[in-house]
Amino acid sequence: MNAKRDYRGVDLFRIAAAFLVVAIHTSPLATYSETADFILTREIARVAVPFFFMTTGFFVLGSRGRTRSFLKKTALLYAAALLLYLPVNVYAGHLDGLTLPELFTQLVFEGTFYHLWYLPAALLGTALASLLLEKLAIRPALAIAAALYLVGLMGDSYYGLVSGLPVLGAAYDALISVCGHTRNGLFFAPVFLLLGCLLRKNRPGRAASTAGLALSALLLIAEGMLLRHLRLQLHDSMYISLPAVMYFLFSLLSGIRGRCPAWAADFSMLVYLLHPAMIIAVRGAARPLGLWGILVENSLGHYLAVCAASALASAALLPLLGRLRPVRASRRSRAWLELDGAALRHNYRALSSLLPPGGRLMCVLKSDAYGLGAEGAVAALSAEGASLWAVATAEEGKLLRKYGARGTILVLGRTPVSDIGLLRRFRLTQTVVSLEYARELSAARRRLEVQIKLDTGMHRLGISWQDLDSIDAVFSLPFLRVTGMYTHLAASESLSPRDADFTREQSERFFAVANALRQRGRDVGMLHTQSSYGLLNYPDMRCDCARPGIALCGVRSSAGDSTAQWPALRPVLSLRARISEVREVPAGEGVGYDLAFVTGRTTRLAAVPIGYADGIFRSAGGACGLVNGLAAPVAGRICMDQLLLDVTGCGEVHPGDTVTFIGRDGAGEISAEELAARCGTITNELLSRLGRRLPRIWVSEEDGE
Ligand SMILES: *Cc1c(COP(=O)(O)O)cnc(C)c1O
Repeated sequence: MNAKRDYRGVDLFRIAAAFLVVAIHTSPLATYSETADFILTREIARVAVPFFFMTTGFFVLGSRGRTRSFLKKTALLYAAALLLYLPVNVYAGHLDGLTLPELFTQLVFEGTFYHLWYLPAALLGTALASLLLEKLAIRPALAIAAALYLVGLMGDSYYGLVSGLPVLGAAYDALISVCGHTRNGLFFAPVFLLLGCLLRKNRPGRAASTAGLALSALLLIAEGMLLRHLRLQLHDSMYISLPAVMYFLFSLLSGIRGRCPAWAADFSMLVYLLHPAMIIAVRGAARPLGLWGILVENSLGHYLAVCAASALASAALLPLLGRLRPVRASRRSRAWLELDGAALRHNYRALSSLLPPGGRLMCVLKSDAYGLGAEGAVAALSAEGASLWAVATAEEGKLLRKYGARGTILVLGRTPVSDIGLLRRFRLTQTVVSLEYARELSAARRRLEVQIKLDTGMHRLGISWQDLDSIDAVFSLPFLRVTGMYTHLAASESLSPRDADFTREQSERFFAVANALRQRGRDVGMLHTQSSYGLLNYPDMRCDCARPGIALCGVRSSAGDSTAQWPALRPVLSLRARISEVREVPAGEGVGYDLAFVTGRTTRLAAVPIGYADGIFRSAGGACGLVNGLAAPVAGRICMDQLLLDVTGCGEVHPGDTVTFIGRDGAGEISAEELAARCGTITNELLSRLGRRLPRIWVSEEDGE
């Protein structure tokens, strides 16, 4: 991972959290003050386990692949931990006469040994949270998790409120007999997992987080003391103010960036796993050493001894864990896309500045955000406050929601009525492409938001601007709520007088329809006409929003396009690969398929593992890559997964060196426009066809809010 993306704050806090868990199990201040110990171990230290859930939500949730591998890894870890503590459980007699339902409770909720409950809770909670995220956007998912948390509260710190009640009290007693505790994977973990996931997309500012943390921490202390005073607590893991404390704490921690020790995560996990064994070990060793008073009876001495023993044992086991780790290809080992989040955010701001006051950008992220990868694009743009989006299909809209896009998502293409469920579940706004289609949608009798597409001269999709009655009829259809109207400009990329006239004509037709409808008393909603070139060339079109796609990527469609404005947009994407072989071939040799290239001199050839399946068109024979900042031309045919570069003039070249096909390398630069021209196309096609197998690596994310 890129150093800038390392979450130093989160990683270092893992270690602190592990030692807080040790505190919960050893009560360091008990010898001195029962109240102080309560505040430390039953209140402050209660942040530790939710913190671990939040790291999972932050780093894992939202990606199916990562979630699956997390579940697998945690299941293995749980199995190993069960085995590790089996002898202790047997020795302590915990398993004597265990019935089948009790075994179920132990395995699914309690984890068989007092700290292990975290592992089944992480499994159950993560499975539940990711299921919620599959079905819902993050906020409704969080609402459900919060409701579960409230249910759990009444079986934990607030038990005293329900225990006396006739029906509810009995219900809770039954629940507790099944789960043991309500601080488990069902009632406790999901809310923290989802809060972590939310923070990944959307972090409050540092000042707000600091103030929020201070206030919620005070509330937490007060809440715990009050509950204790009133003797309402059955257990003391769950507080109303705890999710707020965690939200602000994690927000602050995830804002602290920088390299962190690679071992922090493993070390904290080992401390967590091993410390109960070390409690036993310290007790076992204290008497023979004659240190029972200091190491066991004195609570602080005991805590420090257990911490030290756990740290030593964990440090000793770290290398072993490293060897168990699965080996994976590094993401920059073959060919990859480098995406500049700061550039994308800059482009959003720069394009916004072209809009009339109150105007907004509708970010067009079709085809996986023009190759950028919609997930990273949504994250970067959301951080700028984007809340209008457009995609080509309902399926793309669903993905945008999953990646955390909030607000309106407009589906530009026709969605089959059979997929109306998708539109509704992910709250997508459907384009009405014809009156017949609108009638079909309405006949499905399910409420939908729609926007009407007008054909003002492009003749691709939409109701003809001349057919006012048909357009008007859409407003009267039941179940459809019209929230806007738009049209697409056919020739806005050109500034020639003929094309400019045509573009003005399209705009006039569009606004004439809007005015006529208004006169009929219709609320036409948001009006928009401009894609990237419409906005760059005709910024004064009186629209409520503009729909740029390619301009957000910071490139023109073709290098030759001149635009009325160019607000210093920055290219977001670089395409790079790593040389696999370098060889020297004498003059007069044919090279590659069909021996299409014949060396005219002694030639150094570099084999590069990138090909037309990755998006470098087979027709791009005249393309170059940058090696050591110098242009190396493609030699011979481009293959599916490889190509050859003539690196004779590039100085020292070795296997493992980086080649840049789009982007900067030292003094050299190849723009997307240049490569697109070599491919005989425009950047829109080049970028949207970049191979799915290229890892998308987001770099230089801006830290500040
Ligand atoms: C693709 C598309 C856009 C974005 O076009 P760019 O030229 O990439 O800015 C806008 N509106 C509609 C209807 C589109 O299909």
